[in-house]
Amino acid sequence: MDQVQKTRNDLWPQFVEKCRTCHVCELSKSRQNVVVWRGGIDAPLMILGEGPGAEEDKQGIPFVGRSGKLLDLLLASFGFREEDYHICNIVKCRPPGNRVPTRDEAACCRPLLTEQMRIVRPTVYLLMGATAYRYFTGSDLGITKARGIWTVSNECHIMPTFHPAYVLRDPSKKTFLWQDIAAVRNKLEELRLLEPLS
Ligand code: URA
Repeated sequence: MDQVQKTRNDLWPQFVEKCRTCHVCELSKSRQNVVVWRGGIDAPLMILGEGPGAEEDKQGIPFVGRSGKLLDLLLASFGFREEDYHICNIVKCRPPGNRVPTRDEAACCRPLLTEQMRIVRPTVYLLMGATAYRYFTGSDLGITKARGIWTVSNECHIMPTFHPAYVLRDPSKKTFLWQDIAAVRNKLEELRLLEPLS
C-alpha cells in the first residue's frame, strides 16, 4: 500500500466521525442519519447529488431510493464497479420534506465536502442536477444549458448533468443523462484512470 493510500485509510474514519457528530446547521436537528458516501474512498470519479431524501436519511447511505436505482442501472450498464465511484451530496443531512437545501446550509456543509474531496482526490466530477451544479461551481447557468459540457478546474474535469429524479419525472431526458455518463466513462478511460471496456 502506498503512502497516499495509507494516509487516506487513516483519515477516512476520522472524517466520517466528524460528519456524524456535526451540528453546524439546523438540518442536524431533524436528521436520522448523516449521509456521507457510498462507493470507493480512492475512486477516480466523484458523483454529487443535492441532498439525502427520506430513504437515504433512514439508511445513512446516498442514492438508495428510486433515483439511486436508476443511477445504479446506468453506472452498471457502463461497466462501472463500486470502487470506481464515490457518491455523495452537497449536504449530508436531509432537508425536511425534501426541499432544496438553502445557500446557507450548503455553505455550512462545504468544509466537510472540501475535506472529503481532499481525501478521495477524484479527477472527474459528475454533478447531478441544478442544485449540485449551482452550489458546487457557483454558476447561475441553468442545468439545461450547462449539462453535457466539460469544464476543467484545478486539473479536475467537471461534467454537469440532469438529476436522475428529474429524468424519472420526464423520461424524455434519459438519453441526456445516458450521454453524459458515457462521456464520463470515456474521459476516465482517456485519462487512463479506468481500463477500456473490452
Ligand atoms: N437525491 C439526491 O440528490 N441525493 C440522494 O442521496 C438521494 C436523492
